[in-house]
Amino acid sequence: MSLVRPDDDLRVGGEIDAYCTKCRLTTNHRIVAFDGDKIKKVICLTCQSQHVFRLAPAKKKENPDEPAAAKTARVPKEPKEPKPRTPRPPRESKLQAKKTPQDDIEASKRAWQERKETLGSGPLVPYTISGSFEAGQAIDHAHFGVGFILRVIQPNKIEVQFENTVKTLIMLEAQV
Ligand SMILES: [Zn+2]
Repeated sequence: MSLVRPDDDLRVGGEIDAYCTKCRLTTNHRIVAFDGDKIKKVICLTCQSQHVFRLAPAKKKENPDEPAAAKTARVPKEPKEPKPRTPRPPRESKLQAKKTPQDDIEASKRAWQERKETLGSGPLVPYTISGSFEAGQAIDHAHFGVGFILRVIQPNKIEVQFENTVKTLIMLEAQV
């Protein structure tokens, strides 16, 4: 390692730019000792510390950067993994399970049509306000048409399924 000697300042007591290990900067140094024609020791004029002459920072400096970069590259990966665990499917299945009113109407119609088919040409009991009915009976309503009594709510109150609707019909008080 030979140094260029641009001027007479390269002598003990002369000043030179060098890397200071304490300041971690290239600062102005005063030459303290030579080893032949090579500068050996310098004193930093900024921090007054005496150390071996160095033009540039040691290679050590690059090392701390590498693991740090590798770390930051790895860190975002780990939190990503647990994310898919968040339970979303239950919400969707809940929506699917929920019946729309349209579904209810369709189901009701199908049930009515099935009953109508099994009834065949069997007798229909005409609905009258003074009649008495029981669950399962098929009735013929003047306005709603053929209906099936789903249940007897009260002796004078029945729930009837017609083709497009379910109605609660009321009769006169049953005469005992
Ligand atoms: Zn220094």
